[in-house]
Amino acid sequence: MSKPEIVCWSCDVSLSLSEREESDGLCPHCSVEIDLDEYLVESLTARAADKARIAELEDIISELIAGTGTSPGADRKYGRARAALAQQGKEGET
Ligand SMILES: [Zn+2]
Repeated sequence: MSKPEIVCWSCDVSLSLSEREESDGLCPHCSVEIDLDEYLVESLTARAADKARIAELEDIISELIAGTGTSPGADRKYGRARAALAQQGKEGET
């Protein structure tokens, strides 16, 4: 387990939470105030965005598994692939 680290918004240097404690809530490198609430909000927002993207990908994957898909693009591709196969079949017969 790595210890929790944050990156200073001002100087971009990472520091551990205990380092911040020791400098009274200030960055030990450039002495700006580091507000932990801001970091918390940021990481929660990032997680919500990740969840939305995962849900989107799951939709796409289940469409692909279903074969035909519900999006017009997937439908067209599937139709073209079938037409190409049928064409090949005909050429094989003659
Ligand atoms: Zn700093």
